[in-house]
Amino acid sequence: MRNKKYLIAIIIFVVVAILLIGLSLPANIFSFQAFKASSAVGKSPKKAQKLGLPGAANAAESTSSTVATASTVSTVSTGPTALAGETEGNANNGQNDKSTASSLNVSPLGQAPAANVIWALPPTERAVFITIDDGWYPNSAVLQIMQHYHLPITAFLIEQAAAEHPAYWREFVRAGGDVENHTFSHPNLTQSSLTGMEQQIKQPMAYFTALASRPVLFRPPYGDYNHTVCQVVYQAGIKHVIMWSAVMSNGVLKTYNDKQLQPGAIILLHWVPGVDAEVQKLMTILATDHLGVASLPVAIAHPGHFPVTMLPQNSGQKPGATTSQPSIKGGA
Ligand SMILES: [Zn+2]
Repeated sequence: MRNKKYLIAIIIFVVVAILLIGLSLPANIFSFQAFKASSAVGKSPKKAQKLGLPGAANAAESTSSTVATASTVSTVSTGPTALAGETEGNANNGQNDKSTASSLNVSPLGQAPAANVIWALPPTERAVFITIDDGWYPNSAVLQIMQHYHLPITAFLIEQAAAEHPAYWREFVRAGGDVENHTFSHPNLTQSSLTGMEQQIKQPMAYFTALASRPVLFRPPYGDYNHTVCQVVYQAGIKHVIMWSAVMSNGVLKTYNDKQLQPGAIILLHWVPGVDAEVQKLMTILATDHLGVASLPVAIAHPGHFPVTMLPQNSGQKPGATTSQPSIKGGA
């Protein structure tokens, strides 16, 4: 009898103890979660700033972009245009040297040096620059035009696209073409993580070096860049980010200010089906305007001392027996 009472007391004690522990556990869990939540809220703004996320960085760019509007771009070595390419929208066209300086603080790469951004070259020679992007549709007629007219063309290639037709691109280089870096797979770089940005810009360097020669120019997909992109480009060993001041598409040439094409212009085309007809139409326009064509990397490396291919009046025709030869002026 006495043992039984003793046993009941022990059972009651154990049950109460279990109840007490059971009640206290959830309270601890909730308070832990609350702690985690408050610390996350406290850290996130700093983290966003440190990573250069849209808010802070873009605000800096858009305020200072008023410094250089489309109307002040007459000295077009740097400066924005409102011109959108076919697949190359200008997501960040407010960016210029001044805005990049103001966004230095928010770059995860701090004060590291950055590639400069070129929208057009100074109009010192009567030359423009033909750039054709992406590379999904190689075109053998373009090679014939290049060979016949000694026409220098820069191809900004996506590694994934170039890797589908490496033999064509080797032929393109033999025809006087120049292969430059346009990322591995064409993402919006300002929306990539720093690691993603580095992979997209640095990884294709080895491929293009083996295919043609080491790239010296970089064009961001969709024209979408910020200061961090320019810093990563510089780390990849490239000193120039190349934008454009005119677009040739669907048989129409459009300049950033809707005026006549100016010497120094960088013209954007794409490797799309029928790009040979686009090139020929462009050549007709250039011959009429008495503008020649020069190699973009050569002109950047040797300002004022680069060869310019002047096009004959009939250069819009397919290369054949009746077309006259181009003349090449200058160069060092
Ligand atoms: Zn592109």
